[in-house]
Amino acid sequence: MSRIYLDNNSTTPLLPEVMEAMRECAFRYPGNPASAHRTGAAARRKLEEARQIISDCLGAFPDEVIFTSGATEANNLAIFGLAADKPGMLAVSTLEHPSILEPCRKLESYGWTIVPWNIDGKGYVSGIRNNIKPDLITLQLANHETGTVQNITHWRANYPHVHFHCDGTQAVGKIPVHFHELGINTLALSAHKFHGPVGIGALLLNRCTTLHPRVYGGHQQKGLRPGTESVALAMGMAKALQMAVNALPDRQAKCLHFRRLFLQLLREHEVDHQILGDSEHGLVHALNLSFTGCANDLLLIRLDLAGIDCSTGSACSSGSMLASPVLQAMNVPVSQSKSSIRLSLSHLLTDEQITEAVAIIAREVRALRVG
Ligand code: PMP
Repeated sequence: MSRIYLDNNSTTPLLPEVMEAMRECAFRYPGNPASAHRTGAAARRKLEEARQIISDCLGAFPDEVIFTSGATEANNLAIFGLAADKPGMLAVSTLEHPSILEPCRKLESYGWTIVPWNIDGKGYVSGIRNNIKPDLITLQLANHETGTVQNITHWRANYPHVHFHCDGTQAVGKIPVHFHELGINTLALSAHKFHGPVGIGALLLNRCTTLHPRVYGGHQQKGLRPGTESVALAMGMAKALQMAVNALPDRQAKCLHFRRLFLQLLREHEVDHQILGDSEHGLVHALNLSFTGCANDLLLIRLDLAGIDCSTGSACSSGSMLASPVLQAMNVPVSQSKSSIRLSLSHLLTDEQITEAVAIIAREVRALRVG
């Protein structure tokens, strides 16, 4: 039985063109990019080519791209690296991914004060509580569970001289992202969220920002993230990002079509549901649906058995029996969040798959409601 993959916020399938770019790099540029000899220099040039492509795609300078192993490492590097030695105040929302929340908790244990953002029912932040002016702000661009997109430019303008980090993991490759227009200090991304390889991501670091390294070693990447760079992974990320940016309108249009078809078919099957988050303005490929009366853990098992891959929230918090912290932060009642599932689409789907997925979901929701 072929499966229907509706979990693209967790990870996305690698594209053949990306695999080919990596394969070519791995075989044709075997040197260490830090070596002085010609084989090393050739690898270094290829690495810098990848850096150039990535910075061009994201409105940054090439020397602002720091390769990391993914967004988790990039978020950690930004938060610990921007936090100066003496404790201060840090604004973070409960909407964030664990790779932001856990480093913030660690900073709290070092004496930092955490101040929360106020959050509305659609998942938008509406200001930092009590109008406090923090020393460090972290705010995601797009949410991993609901697809709600924050207005980073607006919040940056409200807090102009504060170190501002943004987790762009769910947004890069899905909506236009221009680092310099956002005006922030750092931005994290992960290649496997836009059909690139797992194991590489980046932190964009504004030229004027001082960052303290987390890992010490050689002089690679100005000592900010030492260690031998993977030329093949860097080129894989560059290729995937370039393809995503070039095909952005087309991919968005396809996802919007699938989203509309999905919701229309759900109505035709007369399956009662609510959309959580902003149903109008969020990421078009992200759908968080609540089916009243259906325990989401049971629904997920039934859908898995029936050939559909989806989830309740971040893969990093799967297995947790607690209600989603993101939905809790939005004041969604526990009964509703425990009946919600996250469906994330991609341009690789087909009308037939969407039609089949909705028929299966309708059948399983009905079975759970009756049972
Ligand atoms: N931030 C967000 C919003 C995410 O969705 C994820 C991945 N689930 C991450 C950070 C971490 O990315 P990675 O697992 O690739 O390090």
